[in-house]
Amino acid sequence: MLLRLNPAAGCILAAEIMADFVSVVRTDFSARVVWRQREPIDQAMGQCAVIDRTLTLLHQALDAEPYHELLGVALGVPGLVDRTNGALLFAPNLHWNDVPLRAILNESFSSPVFVDNEANLAALGEHYFGAARDCDDVLYLTLGAGVGGGLLRGGQLCRGASGYAGEFGHMTIDTNGALCNCGNRGCWETLVSQWGLFGHVRRAMQDGRASRLGDMTHGISTTLRLRSWWTQPGLATAWPRSPWSRLASISAQGSHPSSTRLTRSSWSWEAA
Ligand SMILES: [Zn+2]
Repeated sequence: MLLRLNPAAGCILAAEIMADFVSVVRTDFSARVVWRQREPIDQAMGQCAVIDRTLTLLHQALDAEPYHELLGVALGVPGLVDRTNGALLFAPNLHWNDVPLRAILNESFSSPVFVDNEANLAALGEHYFGAARDCDDVLYLTLGAGVGGGLLRGGQLCRGASGYAGEFGHMTIDTNGALCNCGNRGCWETLVSQWGLFGHVRRAMQDGRASRLGDMTHGISTTLRLRSWWTQPGLATAWPRSPWSRLASISAQGSHPSSTRLTRSSWSWEAA
């Protein structure tokens, strides 16, 4: 007799809070995504508003489909998480400190709540379902507003002695480099993140380097804006675009076609 999982045996909610978006998915018991929503956010909204928006999306996900037992809620955040209590200790690019996220979610959900670094969870996701399915030893990098990482050894997350291994974006590359949101100087993410690359372009323009960007902005680098959007058509078109801009684009394309984590975002330089 061939047995298989009953997809209706329960559901799982997962959320991700990043510097520029909040994403929520709901899966059935077979891990198939049955509901998905992603919204741009602005840090000017403030911490409470971002958390409220995340909770609203989680409840929308729960109400969107016929009720199945909620088996658990997972939340990924771009920072250091104390896994003993699910508190976000420090998220440089969110500018958040000591936020008791698990306790906040427990006020709304009686099911088990898991909070972890988003790159750790993404590395596990790629291992279970994505590009790293056949690999037990994985180095995962996430490139966006910051640079995050997750490390799997023998199919298990390698957390290091203090539990915070994999913060590759905050490795010091240049001790005299630019000030990072974490407080150190010359971290890797100051060089290669979206904002790091944007800074390179602006400085090159200010130094008078010839480029099409310089021509199209008449050499006024302060008119450049960095705008990111999602490649899914609905969300991409929902973002306002400057009518005459899209001067050049950089695409964060991953090398593996099934690695949706690496292929889902695009950035462009725009002139305000
Ligand atoms: Zn740093």
